[in-house]
Amino acid sequence: MAQIALNHVTKEYNNGRIVAVNDLSLEIEDGEFLVLVGPSGCGKSTTLRMVAGLEDATEGDISIGPTRVNELEPRERDIAMVFQNYALYPHMNVRKNIGFGLQLSTDLSDTEIEERVEEAAQLLEIGELLEKKPKALSGGQQQRVALGRAIVREPEAFLFDEPLSNLDAKLRKQMRTEISRIQEQLGVTSIYVTHDQEEAMTMGDRIAVMNDGELQQIGEPNEVYNYPANLFVAGFIGSPSMNTIETEVAADGTHLEAAGGALTYDLGADDHPDPDLSPGDRVTVGVRPEDVSVRAAAEAFTDQTHRATVEVVEPLGSDNLLYFDVDGASWTARVSPAFEPEPGDEVAFSFPRDALYLFDDRGVTVESRDLTDPAEAEQVTAADGDGAATR
Ligand code: ADP
Repeated sequence: MAQIALNHVTKEYNNGRIVAVNDLSLEIEDGEFLVLVGPSGCGKSTTLRMVAGLEDATEGDISIGPTRVNELEPRERDIAMVFQNYALYPHMNVRKNIGFGLQLSTDLSDTEIEERVEEAAQLLEIGELLEKKPKALSGGQQQRVALGRAIVREPEAFLFDEPLSNLDAKLRKQMRTEISRIQEQLGVTSIYVTHDQEEAMTMGDRIAVMNDGELQQIGEPNEVYNYPANLFVAGFIGSPSMNTIETEVAADGTHLEAAGGALTYDLGADDHPDPDLSPGDRVTVGVRPEDVSVRAAAEAFTDQTHRATVEVVEPLGSDNLLYFDVDGASWTARVSPAFEPEPGDEVAFSFPRDALYLFDDRGVTVESRDLTDPAEAEQVTAADGDGAATR
């Protein structure tokens, strides 16, 4: 097993006209499962392919363990890749498909190869499929065989390039759990590329969010969700996306105004550190769909009450998603399934000041929602007090 490090790595195509990856530095710890996530074209696959040795870095260093691997051939890097196209040999049974690479690339004996295949098959729970040909297998089973091929090589690292995108939604969820379980059991350092933020959130020890060839943020899933570094990350991680609205700091500097003054947000309440903003500054306000409360139009909230017309109601079973327009921006609220307004109904909505995110005019986060539960904060204070008294 090994740590993988990228140090100021850049990849250009067409004599620099396309910068696919721009000055990327990343360290993946030994045994860690890192997910590289971002929209299509942001440079994820190029990054993975550079680690694998399928692309040369234009600048920067890539190392696997203590070794700088920039000049090493893919087969000398001791990594195993898993793609969405399994490319199984149709005329070979599963046992052969899994063991074939070892026969070619190692001098392991037939018995040793057989042992590794059996172990991998057990781990993947495909023991009963070993004599079958690929065409007799489902998509999920074929993907397991492809994983088996990677596992038997006992590589320093696994590199996954959107391995589940050919599978249907249910199977994809199942395989996510499977891959996580297997990776944890084997403890092999892994980089996993996906454009699917939900996949990233559920699988990664940490996730690295990329956009336009640049790293936006790296952190544990909850950290990235709750404390996004910028507006891009805030909008990309989480489904439905964070609601946003453009505002301006009012002339007296105490609050933000949007929609010509119809929506206002206090800036300098005691429990909120006043971000360093001046009158007239443009600020984007964000609020997660689960932090928006909605009621029938006639009702009011103790926090500010706003009104909107419901455009779409999307029942998810466990909740309903309500879509409505707020000053030209489409907003979503995640509400109880018991609350089912009709499209066209007017509703009242509100959100606590604590739930707001603020982003400056460059999109950099200046304030994240406050996750301290007031009751818990009080308990902590009380416990601290007790501690002091007994000392
Ligand atoms: P992702 O995996 O995030 O979808 P890629 O890493 O495949 O993105 O691509 C990043 C950018 O580099 C894209 O703009 C893509 O068009 C460009 N690119 C990738 N491969 C090549 C290539 N061989 N030649 C020219 N441009 C490329």
